[in-house]
Amino acid sequence: METKIIDGKAIAAELRAVVATEVAALASQGLKPGLAVVLVGENPASQVYVRNKAAQTAEAGMASFEHKLPVETPEADLLALVARLNADPAVHGILVQLPLPDHIDSMKVLAAIDPAKDVDGFHVVNAGRLAVGLDALVPCTPLGCIILLKRVLGNLSGLKAVVVGRSNIVGKPAAQLLLKEDCTVTIAHSRTRDLPGECRTADILIAAVGRTQMIKGDWIKPGATVIDVGINRIPKEDGKTRLVGDVDFEEAQGVAGLITPVPGGVGPMTIACLLQNTLTAAKRQAGV
Ligand code: NDP
Repeated sequence: METKIIDGKAIAAELRAVVATEVAALASQGLKPGLAVVLVGENPASQVYVRNKAAQTAEAGMASFEHKLPVETPEADLLALVARLNADPAVHGILVQLPLPDHIDSMKVLAAIDPAKDVDGFHVVNAGRLAVGLDALVPCTPLGCIILLKRVLGNLSGLKAVVVGRSNIVGKPAAQLLLKEDCTVTIAHSRTRDLPGECRTADILIAAVGRTQMIKGDWIKPGATVIDVGINRIPKEDGKTRLVGDVDFEEAQGVAGLITPVPGGVGPMTIACLLQNTLTAAKRQAGV
């Protein structure tokens, strides 16, 4: 069987273009969506993410506000900044880049963000709204996974989905979104018995674990659609590193029907969905 590669980069570019067109149309009504990104400290990976987010926000025609705070910033100062952003009418979306330094309680900071501006979808109000099937701002990575799946499979109703990973930012919301699409969903995690057997039941397999190439070719049902969320860095012979997913991509060839590559699969969708969430938040706040 030929395994087709899902081109997340191309699909994300299309989504960004759709967002940019809508942003341009809103400009004529005097509304410019604005995203504030807050970075505390100098984590190199976070710096790259924040730079990319700011660049793509501006490219989409939105206002981008960057707040870089030193690593020793007291929690109270960060909470005060979040309160100012909550009150700022030019800011429609607020993203506090995780992880935060150890002396700051991430849950407390996320809870302080106005749920209407919570474009990461991590606030309990948005998690709860998603769980009960109400309109919510949905976490960007799982939203990107579902957009990819609907794009390549069309209707997901009745398909058996297995999500490996139960984090609040990927696994759990991915499972909620699949349920919303009428899939039959299993959530697997580190205590799951017979993980390979569970994976083999999946028409749709989402891997969100953070373990290098853990999911092997013979864990995949022939013809299944595999979405690899994992981002793992492994050493190359030249001393540099390269990115690989949670799925053994080589072994999946010839078994999976469709698969996302790493990089170039889910990653680009995450930022595109952040832009979409910011647009949604701006429209809701402006009542348009
Ligand atoms: P977490 O570490 O928060 O969660 C990992 C999950 O995997 C946990 O539920 C854990 O189970 C489960 N797990 C760990 N080991 C095993 C195992 N041996 N067998 C089965 N399940 C296991 O990670 P995240 O959800 O934040 O991220 C997952 C991956 O996705 C990471 O590689 C991350 O870098 C990547 N990522 C990619 C994004 C993108 O834009 N493409 C965005 C966000 C994340 P338990 O709960 O039992 O401990």
